[in-house]
Amino acid sequence: MIEITLLGTGSPIPDPNRAGPATLVRAGGQAFLVDCGRGVLQRAAAVGVGAAGLSALLLTHLHSDHIGDLGDLLITRWITTFAPEPAPLPIIGPPGTAEAVEATLNAFRHDIGYRIAHHADLNAPPAVEVQEYTDGPVWDRDGVSIRAAPTDHRPVTPTIGFRIESENTSVVLAGDTVPCAGLDELASGADALVHTVIRKDIVINIPQQRLRDICDYHSSVEQAAATAARAGVGTLVMTHYVPALVPGQEEQWRALAASEFGGRVELGDDLHRVEVRARQ
Ligand SMILES: [Zn+2]
Ligand SMILES: [Zn+2]
Repeated sequence: MIEITLLGTGSPIPDPNRAGPATLVRAGGQAFLVDCGRGVLQRAAAVGVGAAGLSALLLTHLHSDHIGDLGDLLITRWITTFAPEPAPLPIIGPPGTAEAVEATLNAFRHDIGYRIAHHADLNAPPAVEVQEYTDGPVWDRDGVSIRAAPTDHRPVTPTIGFRIESENTSVVLAGDTVPCAGLDELASGADALVHTVIRKDIVINIPQQRLRDICDYHSSVEQAAATAARAGVGTLVMTHYVPALVPGQEEQWRALAASEFGGRVELGDDLHRVEVRARQ
């Protein structure tokens, strides 16, 4: 069984009830944080997961809403890991990730200096192990394997999705993307697909061109559902709702997805949890 928890279902627009994009995937005793939006550690705390308990951070791309709390994650993990020689945090993302992580650590260099000076048992800055990929296997430990494939969120490039496999069960995280061959291949036959979605039918009518611009590099609910159908996945999990999902309107979103996809559809608020089991 793989357990998906939508830690943050929001978008760049701050929402009192939705943290920024972040999904927790627990598989084979390991915990993967996929993207790192605002408020992610507060949401993770709500399900008993701390920064020190993460096996790895996976980043789909470097848009601000997906890496907004990277600094909080790096510093909090550092100061809440009490092992004498803490293992570095594996961070897996597209090219550019190492530079973003390094710049974030640089932004916090004063804080890092204060804490090393103050605590006798903190002698080195946060330990990270960044690996950049655009395609192929990225993780294989203790029965959990992960591979990446390119997605299409142009002009944001490169961007990647992830396929996490454990005990014959597979979960794919698409990130932000329009329908594309890379994602179709990555998601093929997966038990669940976690896909960011926007309501183009609503966003296209917003009288602000800058907001309407987002339509050309995101999938609508129907497009995400069509991807799920083409790939033959079992469950479509929708997140990163634009505009925010209004309580009581879940059925509208569900109906749009059902127009293209006949499988199980999951959506909801932050901390919505989906258990994924291998299909027979
Ligand atoms: Zn994006
Ligand atoms: Zn986004």
